[in-house]
Amino acid sequence: MAEGKEDFSHLPERLNGLAELAENLWWSWHPAARMVFKLLDRREWKASNHNPDKMLKQLSREVLEKAEKDKYYLSHYDIVMSEFRSAMSNCRCDILDYDQPQSTPIAYFSAEFGLHHSLPFYAGGLGFLAGDFIKECSDLRVPMVAMGFMYPGGYLHQLIREDGWQENVAQVLDRDAAPISRVFDDQGRHLIVRVPLIEPPIHVAVWKVTVGHVPLYLMDTDIEINDPWNRLISARLYTGDLEQRLRQEIVLGVGGSEVLEKMGIAHSVLHLNEGHAAFALLERIRDRILAGLSFEEGAKQISSTTVFTTHTPVKAGHDIFPFQLMEKYFNSFWPALKLDHDEFLQLGIHPEEPHAGFNMTAFALRMAGFRNAVSLKHGEVARRMWQSLWPDKSEHEVPIDSVTNGIHIPTWIEPKMELLFNKHLGNSWLADHDNPLIWELVDEIPDNELWNTHYWLKMKLINALREKSRRKWKNDHPSSTPASGVFLDPDVLTIGFARRFATYKRADLIFQDMERLKNLLNHSRTPVQFIFAGKAHPADDPGKRILQKIVQLARDPETAGRIAFVENYNEQYGQYLVHGVDIWLNNPIPPKEASGTSGMKAALNGVPHFSIADGWWCEGYNGKNGWTFGENISNEDRDEADARAIYDLLEKEIIPLYYNFNNHGFPRGWVKIMKESIKSTGSKFSARRMVKEYSEKYYSKALKNAEAFES
Ligand SMILES: *Cc1c(COP(=O)(O)O)cnc(C)c1O
Repeated sequence: MAEGKEDFSHLPERLNGLAELAENLWWSWHPAARMVFKLLDRREWKASNHNPDKMLKQLSREVLEKAEKDKYYLSHYDIVMSEFRSAMSNCRCDILDYDQPQSTPIAYFSAEFGLHHSLPFYAGGLGFLAGDFIKECSDLRVPMVAMGFMYPGGYLHQLIREDGWQENVAQVLDRDAAPISRVFDDQGRHLIVRVPLIEPPIHVAVWKVTVGHVPLYLMDTDIEINDPWNRLISARLYTGDLEQRLRQEIVLGVGGSEVLEKMGIAHSVLHLNEGHAAFALLERIRDRILAGLSFEEGAKQISSTTVFTTHTPVKAGHDIFPFQLMEKYFNSFWPALKLDHDEFLQLGIHPEEPHAGFNMTAFALRMAGFRNAVSLKHGEVARRMWQSLWPDKSEHEVPIDSVTNGIHIPTWIEPKMELLFNKHLGNSWLADHDNPLIWELVDEIPDNELWNTHYWLKMKLINALREKSRRKWKNDHPSSTPASGVFLDPDVLTIGFARRFATYKRADLIFQDMERLKNLLNHSRTPVQFIFAGKAHPADDPGKRILQKIVQLARDPETAGRIAFVENYNEQYGQYLVHGVDIWLNNPIPPKEASGTSGMKAALNGVPHFSIADGWWCEGYNGKNGWTFGENISNEDRDEADARAIYDLLEKEIIPLYYNFNNHGFPRGWVKIMKESIKSTGSKFSARRMVKEYSEKYYSKALKNAEAFES
C-alpha cells in the first residue's frame, strides 16, 4: 500500500532529508529537530503554525540555497538527520522482547489524538493521553498501529462574544496543508473502504500521520461517494446528535478494523482507549466466526487479546444508544455473529439500568479480558461503579485494574528547562527518565538557576499572551483586551487554571467569596493573579455560563487586571501555561476527575500542583511537593468548604512562602517545593512508566494468548 508523498521536489539534494523529517512527527518532540526547520526561516516557521510540511512547500529557492551553503546549518542538519535515522532503524522492543518490525501486533483505537497544534484532532485530556501514549510506544518500540479520525472541522474554534458568551466557529482544515498524507490503494487512488455490514452504506477515506515508529491512520467520511449526512460523520468530535454519534462510533470501531484488514495489517491485540471504539470487538469476533469458530469460542479468543481502558466516572462520559437505533444499524450484524436480536443487545446491557439502551462501557468491560482505570483512586471508583456486571464478586474483587496515567516527558519538558536538567542531571537524563535515582539529582541544581529559568518561562508566557492580544486588538471589542493578559505582572504570584469547561471541574470555584478574592488580588504587597483558559463543549450551556462569568469578571475593573482569560486554548497555549505559571490549580468535584494530566505537565517543569484530593493527585501528593485539600467533605455543601480551603491555604501558606525572598533575590522555601514537584513527577508520572506497566501487565500476556491461538 503506497502513501501519498508530498511534492518536495524543489528541495536541494543536500537537504532532501528535510522531506523525510517533515513527514514524521518525531520532529515535534525533539527540540533539535524543530530547530532544523526554525533555522531555515523563523518567520515562515511561525506563519505555518509550526507545520514543517506546509512551511517547506512555501520556502523560496533563495532560502534553501542559503541553507545549503551555511556550514553551521549543515552541521546541525547532519546531526539531527543521523539521530533520526538511527532512531528509526532500531525496532527492537526490549520490554516486550519483541523484534519483528514487519508486523504490528497491537492496534490502539481512540476517538481523539492530541499530538501537536497543527493537528486539531482532540478535545482534551483523553486526546492528549492517547497522543502521549503512542509517542512513548514509539520511543520504547512497542509494536503498534493506531486508529482514529481525521476531523476536517477540528474540535471547535472558540470566539468570545462581547457579552462573554462562547461562540463556536467552524474552521475547515486544509487537508493539503496539514501534516497528514493520503493512503493509496493498489491502483494509486486514495484508499476508500466500505464499513462492512452497515446499511445504508458508509465509506471512509484513509489518511496517515507517522508518529515515530507508530503509524496513525485517520478515517475521513467527507468524500463524494457518501451522501451528505454520511459526509458529516467525521466532521467534528463528539457531536451532540445521538444517531450521528452512534454512526461515528460504528465507523471508528467497525470501519477502523476493516481499514486495517484492507491494508493487510493483521493485529493480534486490540487496545480500546475508552468505549467509543468498542464496536471493533464485534468485527474481531466476526473474523473468528468466518474462520469457523462459534460466537462463544470467538468471543473467548477476543477477550483474552483485548485491553480496555475506561477513562471517566462521569455518567455522561459513557455512551448509551437506544435499542431502536442499534437495531436500525446492526440488523445484518447479529446474524453474522450467529446471535439473535436479544442475545446481541444483551451484550451492552448495564444491569442497573437494563432498559436504558446499549451501554458502550458495559459492553467493552464485558467483552475485554484486560480492563483498567487510569489512577488508583479511579480504580476504586470504577470497581464500585461497575460491580453489578459481576454480581457474584465483592467490590474489591471486581476485575478492573488500574494503571495511572503519565505524560510524555520529551513533549512536555520545556526546552530551556531541558537544558538546565542536561547541565545538572547529566546528558542521559532524558533517555533514562524513568529511573527514579536520576531525579534525586534535581537537588544539585542551584536554587537561583532554577528560579531564573522559571522566571524566564513566566516572561515567555506573559509575552506570548501580550502578542496574542496585540494581534487580536484591531478586530476585538474594546472591553476584551484588558482581560486577555496585557496587565499581567511577572513579579506577581500567578495561578493557572486551564482545562475543558465541564461543570464538574468548577472553574469558577475561586469566585465563591468575591470580597475575600478581591483582597487577595488587590493586596498592595503580596497580590495574586489568575490565568484561565479552556473551551466548553458546544452543547454545554451550563459550562458556557461558567466561562461567561469568568470572562466578565476578568473584564471588571474591580479585579484590577489581575484575571486573564486566554481565548481558544489549544496545545500551543497549553505548553506556555503549564511551563510559565507559578501554581497549577485543580478543583473538580471528587471523584469525577479520573486522573488529570495537565498538573503533571506543570509539576515536571517546576510548577507545583495545588489540587483537591482526586485523580492522580491522591497518589502524587507527598506532603512536600504542593498542596492538597478537600478530604472528608460531603458533596452537599462542597463548593463553599472547598473554596474556603483554597483561600485559607493561599493566605496562610502559599502567598507568604512565595513572597519570602532571601537576599539573593529568590524565595528559597518556594524553590524547595518546585524541586520536590519535579522530583516526584519525572519518573512516576511519565508515559514511559505508564507504557511499561501496560506492557508488563497486559500486552505481554495478550500477545502470548494471541500466539497460542495462531499456532
Ligand atoms: C494536558 C492537556 C489537557 C488535559 O488536561 P486535564 O488535566 O486532564 O484537564 C487538556 N488540554 C490540553 C491542551 C492539554 O495539554
